[in-house]
Amino acid sequence: MIERLVIATHNRKKAGEMVTILQTRFPGLQIQTLADYPSAGEPEETGTTYIANAIIKAEAAAEATDEWCLADDAGLEIDAMDGAPGLYSKRFAGEDTPFTEKIRIILENLSGREDRAARFRCAVAFAKKGEPTVSFEAICEGVIADAPSGNGGFGYDPVFWLPELGCTMADLTAEQKHAVSHRGKILKAFGDYLSP
Ligand code: IMP
Repeated sequence: MIERLVIATHNRKKAGEMVTILQTRFPGLQIQTLADYPSAGEPEETGTTYIANAIIKAEAAAEATDEWCLADDAGLEIDAMDGAPGLYSKRFAGEDTPFTEKIRIILENLSGREDRAARFRCAVAFAKKGEPTVSFEAICEGVIADAPSGNGGFGYDPVFWLPELGCTMADLTAEQKHAVSHRGKILKAFGDYLSP
């Protein structure tokens, strides 16, 4: 079992979720984020898959920190939009465009459509200098709601409807979200790998 882990993301909400999930399972693990390494840059996400981008981020952080690093890359795939925004979920409609606007554009695109199936797809990579990098992938299936709802979570959560729960991801508490989300599932698999 490792003693220290750096969560390699500059997204504060995402880092917060990853720290909470992992710290709950491994209370003795010393968890840092890239906020503790201000000189660590943000590499360009040039990969053509989520796993490739997670590996780019984890290995860049491992190089900068000399610690075990865990990076996540995720996206929302909407079937009726041919899988968009997908790998480009962060940059969809412009990187600095607020999520209220990104969501408005998605709802406009799906206006009047009944085929609203969507999923969050997520990859994580675990890297350290001189060690082989390990990666995992997970998905969470849902549908795009007719209108946004809820204040929890972040990003696209207010329009990600979970039919089996009858609410959006943003209607859930953090604990409820982690029990069903792509990130909760993937960090369960990662935790099982760390401590079988
Ligand atoms: P990246 O993985 O940092 O490239 O981010 C992918 C995009 O998907 C970001 O814009 C996130 O806000 C969004 N995203 C990632 N995970 C979630 C989630 O759990 N809920 C809602 N949006 C998410």
